[in-house]
Amino acid sequence: MTGTEEPRIGVFVCHCGHNIAGTVDVAKVAQTAAGLPNVVFATDEMFMCSDNGQQLIREKIKEHRLNRVVVASCSPRMHEPTFRRVCEEAGLNRYLFEQVNLREHVSWCHMREPEAATAKAIDLVRMSVARAARLETLPVKTVQVTPRTLVVGGGIAGITASLDIADRGFEVVLVERQPRLGGNLINWTHLFPTDETGAEVLEPLINRVRNHDKIKIFTDAEVVAFDGYIGNFQATVRETKTGRESHHDVGAVIVTTGFQSFKPHGYYGYKITPDILTLAELQEMPRSKELRRPSDGQLVKKLAFIGCVGSREPGVKGHEHCSRHCCSAVAKAAADLRARTEEVVILYQDVRTYGKGHEEFHRLARSRRVIYSKFPERDKPKVTLEDGRITIRWHDVLADEDLILQPDMLVLASAMVPPDTADEVAKLFSLTRSSDGFFNPEHIKLAPLTTHTAGIMIAGAAQAAKNAHEAAIDASGAAAKAVGLMARGEVEIESTVAHVNPDLCSSCHTCVTACPYHAISMDTSRTPEVALVTEAKCHGCGTCAAGCPSGAIMMRHSTTDQILAMVEAYLCPPPAAQEVRAQ
Ligand SMILES: Cc1cc2nc3c(=O)[nH]c(=O)nc-3n(C[C@H](O)[C@H](O)[C@H](O)COP(=O)(O)OP(=O)(O)OC[C@H]3O[C@@H](n4cnc5c(N)ncnc54)[C@H](O)[C@@H]3O)c2cc1C
Ligand code: SF4
Ligand code: SF4
Ligand code: SF4
Repeated sequence: MTGTEEPRIGVFVCHCGHNIAGTVDVAKVAQTAAGLPNVVFATDEMFMCSDNGQQLIREKIKEHRLNRVVVASCSPRMHEPTFRRVCEEAGLNRYLFEQVNLREHVSWCHMREPEAATAKAIDLVRMSVARAARLETLPVKTVQVTPRTLVVGGGIAGITASLDIADRGFEVVLVERQPRLGGNLINWTHLFPTDETGAEVLEPLINRVRNHDKIKIFTDAEVVAFDGYIGNFQATVRETKTGRESHHDVGAVIVTTGFQSFKPHGYYGYKITPDILTLAELQEMPRSKELRRPSDGQLVKKLAFIGCVGSREPGVKGHEHCSRHCCSAVAKAAADLRARTEEVVILYQDVRTYGKGHEEFHRLARSRRVIYSKFPERDKPKVTLEDGRITIRWHDVLADEDLILQPDMLVLASAMVPPDTADEVAKLFSLTRSSDGFFNPEHIKLAPLTTHTAGIMIAGAAQAAKNAHEAAIDASGAAAKAVGLMARGEVEIESTVAHVNPDLCSSCHTCVTACPYHAISMDTSRTPEVALVTEAKCHGCGTCAAGCPSGAIMMRHSTTDQILAMVEAYLCPPPAAQEVRAQ
């Protein structure tokens, strides 16, 4: 079907169980839709995304010779690909499908106003039907994929991703900013939930990476320039010492730039004496039979830890998150060090030993008589130096008592925060950052490894504070996505992109600077030069079209005609919809 024949529209209204139907009168929405111009079939169904719902769409397309389909259900982000595929299976071009979001835009936000919600649902469906009548068939385009992946960051996530990809026969370019591979984990001496050091876990993997004929490693190096689009990226890598630059064509990118440990200056007397240090600094101390104070080398008899340092601070930008590793890392370190000390006390806000095998360390620490004492969230412990001795005063919530301790050493379990390079990396790869400063995935639940730039994945602590096990899981997931892309050899790109009419373009460059994805350049082969969209880079956001002073940019699949049809439908409701609105 071409999309040029007389529109025959089918409307399918989803209950989404109780999610939509609990608020919206879905039968009334379907009934009203049935009377709209060009609608030849309308119904409501319990779950449109279920096998039955999908089969219903296929059957009705055939039975009623539908050439446009409107599904009024959940967010297009969730199920647009599902319904587009169903339409294609029934012989309909995927761009002749239109989805209305009745769940997030109506039932969830108007739960207490069922009648108004139903009226709004009808309005939205009418608008989408009007737009659907003007939808056009668009081609499904593909681009070739270069079978090579760039991995940025050589911690456990970068190493795991590189090996997973290379073991499947594809080339990897691995770039690490530091002179050695291993990231943060290689420094830690008390790893949970295993009992090894970071080096013991990572060194065999690093050897494999070094000897793998499919992996090209650049340490002490950074990516300094990056361009291109899914399947066809170009990266320039600069080696810091020599300044030598090399250029690499890659089809996919995995960003695994990890985190850095927060230096908690201003918290709990950090650095007022060398004996107040962070957990990271304790972990970096060489393993020995005895624990000695950094200040004077005396044996540590009393050891204290404080949790949530620079983490879980509501209202403090970049520090609101839980750092997720520290409760387990503190329990492990405390359990290990208990035998070498007379007393170990952990001051905590909450204990979150949530991972597989982590709670066991919490129990192990308690069984070794490590003392846990809970302090109130709003009344944190006070740390001072009294006669040269570290003095901690706090209120124990469970005993409801004010307590005082003078440990020989105080260890602060400080936050995992994004590395200093996060801003640069975000700019280079067009990544966005969430309020904690880590990189945003495309969708936190549905697409946690991909980003808004197709072909660029994120994994490990680059995405959020994570432990090593979670970082490795991410890395394997991102590697599988990269391998899937490269193995196919080509990838479909969206046709819902911007298009410049060269006859109207006045060469003002407004769109070139406005495009957040650098998808527009000037075609200098023409005189005068005109704007040109690289379709594979375009996200169809419409920023350029809105900014173009000459009206030269048209958005495919969101044409002026289609948008005005929706506005007109909203402003001029038929009598049936007017009645519902008036109720
Ligand atoms: C004190 C402490 C103790 C911990 N203990 C444990 C534990 O016992 N068990 C556990 O499972 N987890 C533990 N963790 C968490 C663990 O360290 C992380 O989960 C893990 O390091 C994450 O790995 P990653 O590869 O994602 O990031 P990272 O280890 O941070 O590696 C990222 C790498 O990317 C590099 N990089 C950064 N920017 C760039 C750039 N622009 N270009 C190139 N390279 C770049 C960095 O130099 C680094 O090598 C602990 C964390 C802390 C702070
Ligand atoms: S893991 Fe524990 S110590 Fe770390 S921020 Fe979360 S609750 Fe606090
Ligand atoms: S629609 Fe958005 S992404 Fe596409 S060219 Fe215009 S501004 Fe760039
Ligand atoms: S904003 Fe419009 S007129 Fe200006 S260069 Fe872009 S397409 Fe041409």
